[in-house]
Amino acid sequence: MSVKKAIWAIDLLMENKQKVKAGMLDPEKPWNCREDCVTSLVRTEVNNLQNDVEWLQAIKRQLLPEQHRTKIVCRHPKKDHDIDPDGRKYCMNCNANL
Ligand SMILES: [Zn+2]
Repeated sequence: MSVKKAIWAIDLLMENKQKVKAGMLDPEKPWNCREDCVTSLVRTEVNNLQNDVEWLQAIKRQLLPEQHRTKIVCRHPKKDHDIDPDGRKYCMNCNANL
């Protein structure tokens, strides 16, 4: 998996977890209109989702500097090279800026 694809997957995972979390926190949902064991279960799950998002952000931060390191060592063939929407040349395989 290239760094770019890994970051794409992490972003997608974070987005999904934040959507689920927002749904659970919706004040209109029946579990937020009362106080019982379901409410505390939902709160626990919301905290778990938030922790997951923070872990994913930490992993993403570790991947980002890798993109810059690969700038020097990209040895992929020209067919892997492309131009991003901002007009910069990059490698589709390792995401290095060229
Ligand atoms: Zn490359």
